[in-house]
Amino acid sequence: MEIFKPMNLQRDDQKKSAIETTEKIKCLIIGSGPAGYTAAIYAARANLKPVVYTGLQAGGQLTTTTEVDNYPGYPGGVTGPEMMEDFKKQAERFGAEVRFGIATAVDFSSKIHKVTIDENKIIEAESVIISTGATAKYLGLEAETKYAGMGVSACATCDGFFYREKDVAVVGGGDTAAEEATYLAGLCRKVYLIVRRDVLRASKTMQDKVANTSNIEILWEHQTVDLFGENGVEGVTLVKKKGTSAEEIVKIKIDGFFLAIGHTPNSEIFRKYLETDAVGYIKTIPGTSKTIVPGVFACGDVQDPHYRQAVTAAGSGCMAAIDAERYLSEMK
Ligand SMILES: Cc1cc2nc3c(=O)[nH]c(=O)nc-3n(C[C@H](O)[C@H](O)[C@H](O)COP(=O)(O)OP(=O)(O)OC[C@H]3O[C@@H](n4cnc5c(N)ncnc54)[C@H](O)[C@@H]3O)c2cc1C
Repeated sequence: MEIFKPMNLQRDDQKKSAIETTEKIKCLIIGSGPAGYTAAIYAARANLKPVVYTGLQAGGQLTTTTEVDNYPGYPGGVTGPEMMEDFKKQAERFGAEVRFGIATAVDFSSKIHKVTIDENKIIEAESVIISTGATAKYLGLEAETKYAGMGVSACATCDGFFYREKDVAVVGGGDTAAEEATYLAGLCRKVYLIVRRDVLRASKTMQDKVANTSNIEILWEHQTVDLFGENGVEGVTLVKKKGTSAEEIVKIKIDGFFLAIGHTPNSEIFRKYLETDAVGYIKTIPGTSKTIVPGVFACGDVQDPHYRQAVTAAGSGCMAAIDAERYLSEMK
């Protein structure tokens, strides 16, 4: 017993020091993509003195891309990192405080919302804006990293334009894959739809659309094993009918490789308190950014399974800040 006593004391000390500080604020914004920074601009201008925690990916998904050509206000285009730096500067100009840190836990059980940052600080916020985005799913091939931004994309709406009159492949068998394939078919010369099974999971309407688009070819029972090319994607290596006696390796020439196997919304830590759909997208009251918890709002890709664009994320960030401002003024 004597031997273990000092060890227990040490553990208690550690527990006490785990939460170092508690801070009370009016408006906490979790995430620093287009949604979070836009919310910060509006919240700062409304005098809510917002604090933004950036998460691991300061600036959000767009920091992983080169050209952004479809965001209004940049007639000559802009790189993703430059654009997000502009967003940040604009938010800071009005007094938003941008801090590096990750929300690791939340407690939305009372009127003052508690959010733990980096497991060692508690923010007590009168309002919380969640803008933690969504992460595209990849197959897990080394080649996807090697050719990132050089022919591999997880967003046809964002990058399809770069492949006009070229040949591309889309991976997936659900509604998203069918939608992305038909969208790309309107721009590209040829679209291969790589489907693992011998059926599509997509809705009947989307299946009909794919079937009636002459420049889409479905490669049934094919799985991607690699990509090849000197200075970017030039082709994909597939295995057909894997594990059967008819198994064979197929190589096709393509210029672009599009993943359409889904996204994971970054909503894990909020799910105990908020309503989400089956995939994990946070549900908001239609036409608003309000969640089922008063004073907690969601914007951007974390609540948007449909559009997932910088401009829609920014628009919903604006809505969230206005909703938060109105909520706080009604609370007074
Ligand atoms: C390669 C690529 C290219 C794209 N190109 C375009 C394009 O050309 N045009 C276009 O309109 N859209 C494009 N998109 C889509 C666009 O990037 C997204 O729709 C947009 O970034 C969504 O914004 P958001 O603010 O909702 O989330 P995100 O940009 O995903 O930002 C989420 C933020 O939340 C933070 N975060 C996550 N979890 C936590 C946590 N627990 N605590 C604190 N912070 C957290 C992250 O660090 C990040 O800062 C592209 C996406 C990718 C991946």
